[in-house]
Order: sequence, then structure tokens, then C-alpha cells
Amino acid sequence: MKKTFAEKSVCKTFLRMITVVTVTSTLFTGCNQKIEVKETEKILSNLPPTAKVPRIDDENVPTDKRVIYLTFDDGPNRGTENLLKILHKRNITATAFLVGKHASDSKKQKEDFEKMRTDGLLEIANHSYAHAHNKYSDFYKNPEAVLKDFDVAKDSLKLPGKIARTPGRNIWRLNNINVTDIKSSSEAADRLKTAGYKIIGWDLEWKPNNKMQLKGNHQEMLKKVDSIFFNDLEKTSRHLVFLTHDQYLTDADSINELDLFIEKLQKSNRFVFRKISAYPKINEVLN
Ligand SMILES: [Zn+2]
Repeated sequence: MKKTFAEKSVCKTFLRMITVVTVTSTLFTGCNQKIEVKETEKILSNLPPTAKVPRIDDENVPTDKRVIYLTFDDGPNRGTENLLKILHKRNITATAFLVGKHASDSKKQKEDFEKMRTDGLLEIANHSYAHAHNKYSDFYKNPEAVLKDFDVAKDSLKLPGKIARTPGRNIWRLNNINVTDIKSSSEAADRLKTAGYKIIGWDLEWKPNNKMQLKGNHQEMLKKVDSIFFNDLEKTSRHLVFLTHDQYLTDADSINELDLFIEKLQKSNRFVFRKISAYPKINEVLN
């Protein structure tokens, strides 16, 4: 269950109060109060703030870390090779939401698909077979056809799981997370969910400029990451799904900016990176 910022603060304060009360009450029931008050102060001054006590939660992530899921859509595509180079340079895991058709559109795309499929740093997931032929409104009008398209992609890409992202829409259907950016797509999204698909949208997108290069720079994106966590805007508290597209990684500036973005996130030591199959509760069986 997602906690609000206020709830999280209350929890932290409460835990600190328990620590203080426990230590002081033990010491004040002893016979030599003066000595033991000094001991209390000593113990308290040595205690780290509760929030910084290393603790492992159910996703095996220390509580002082935030989790980022780097995801890249529409591959195999122009830029896929550059994406793989960056991932290996930074030794970082990511997820590629693939378009089934793109895996066989050309010899180069077939080769890139093979590289993506067998790359240990990358997880591949379903982004439909035909990407709605970029006619999204028509596509989502027919829920059965949408389901069929995702099934065809699953088979043709030989995907082991049912993690998926809808083309042209930021839709979530995962346990209690139910978000639809454009309401006319709701029925199709519900149909995918009923068929067992776990639909993952995104919390933050690095969009392109009109030349299909990454817009802005890594500093701006880093500020957006901080802002989302600070304002508790991520769908699941402490977990951020980041989206951009392979095809924006064809020019030197875009490649460099994405590389710097990842480098700065890593060096801040505040984040860990996971493939999308590690997203909280994604592997629970849906009813
Ligand atoms: Zn797409």
C-alpha cells in the first residue's frame, strides 16, 4: 500500500520516539540515576537516525535507497546498439519494451533483437506486435484485437512472461494500480488485465525534440527524478519507472546525455536499478 509523505514522516518520528522511550525507561529504573543519565546521553548520541538504520525490505532494497527502472520502448530500432553500449559501459540493468514487428523488419533489427534477447543486463517485455500502426484511437476501440496483437507479440518474441506496455498510452493495470491516461482505452486495458497481462506505464519520460533527439539535458532530468520522489508522485512509493526510446539515441549529444544521466544517478549512491520484473508485487497472480 502506498504511504503518503506525511504518513512516512509520522512512522519515522514514532520509531525515533520508541527508541528514546525504551532506552531512557530502562536506565531510569536503575539505582544510580546520575551515572545512567550520562550513559543514556552517550547511547543516544551514538544511535544513527532511525531512517538511516540499514534494513532490508521485501524487495531486497535498503530503506535509504530509491529504485529506478530504466525502460526503453519501440526496439529493436535505430539507436538500440547505442543503448546496449551505454548499459554495458555503466554496467546497469534495464528493460526494453519491444515491438514484435520490429524484431523482423530488417536484417539489422533481427540481429539487434538477438543481442537484446541474450543480453544479461537487459530484460525484454511486450509492447504489442504492430504498435497500433500508430493509429491509437482506432486500435483501442477493439479490445479483442488489442489482446490478439499482444498475444502475437508474446509468441513471436518468445516472451516468457506477460509484462506489457501499451503503445501510445500511459496505462497501468497492476494489482491496485489502475491508471488510464486516455479513458477511451480503458476497456482494452481491462481486457489485457483479465487475460493476465501486467500493464506497466511510466512515472517519468525523457521526451524527444523535433529532431527526435533527447530534449534538454541530464541535469534537468535529474531534477525531475528528485522532484518526483520529493513530492511522492511515483505510482509505488520509492519506485520510479523511467521511459525513453532507443530511437532517440542516434546522435552524439543524446548518447552522451543519457550516459551522464545514468552516471550521475549511480554516483549519487541514492538509487538502485532493477529490471521491471522486480517491480513490487508484479509477480503476484492476478484474479
Ligand atoms: Zn511505443
